[in-house]
Amino acid sequence: MRPKRVLVKLSGEALAGQAGSGLDGHTLTALAADIAHAAREGVEIAIVVGGGNFFRGLQGLNKGLDRPSADSIGMLGTVMNALALEHAIETAGAPARAMSAVPMPSLCESYARRRALDHLSNGKVVILGGGTGNPYFTTDTGAALRAAELDCSHLLKATQVDGVYTADPKVDPKATRYDTLTHAEAIKRDLKVMDTAAFALARDAGLTIVVFSIAETGALAAVLRGEGRATYVTP
Ligand code: UDP
Repeated sequence: MRPKRVLVKLSGEALAGQAGSGLDGHTLTALAADIAHAAREGVEIAIVVGGGNFFRGLQGLNKGLDRPSADSIGMLGTVMNALALEHAIETAGAPARAMSAVPMPSLCESYARRRALDHLSNGKVVILGGGTGNPYFTTDTGAALRAAELDCSHLLKATQVDGVYTADPKVDPKATRYDTLTHAEAIKRDLKVMDTAAFALARDAGLTIVVFSIAETGALAAVLRGEGRATYVTP
């Protein structure tokens, strides 16, 4: 796989390190170095970052918040991660630009498709915060949406597991990993590649979803070179 432009979905969890929440400096630096390295190899990279290391909307329901308010807090968490990544990727030597689907112009650029495309073609890593900008959605759906509208050939879903398995490998030792799957097979076998809304959008847009583990150093650059373990979910 030598794609021209990809979208990487990074969950908030990926930035939290061992602590499991908030931002871990060491993890952030290592991840940013990996992203900068991949960008220097010439691939245009857009990143949709989650916010689960700070807050997920559904957590707010236990606190007496209504869903739209709780999701607004969740979206703000994703922008915090986007700002952290922007700085860390630039420090690692690749130009980067954070954009938010929820306008907050004194902190970062507001998302606009044409501007994001300009940044990508100028070699900047574009980090998209704020998800879709609407409550009741996840950043997985944001990732599928942006991958489609930014004309990315691949949606790379960075997880803690190196692909899609027949069952949860942490629970079932007999679980085996798929190298490739079609969208239709994933639905037929009820495999949870992404959440339902995100998967439907990715399938309609004909995106290839690549599920890989971000845990090892250099994982992103390796996947972009067609190396490393991953599951490819194709149209
Ligand atoms: N969120 C939202 N709309 C979006 C994307 C995200 O309201 O389009 C909120 C939602 O509350 C979600 C939180 O932001 O729980 C953090 O995003 P997500 O749970 O997708 O983060 P991840 O699990 O990838 O870290």
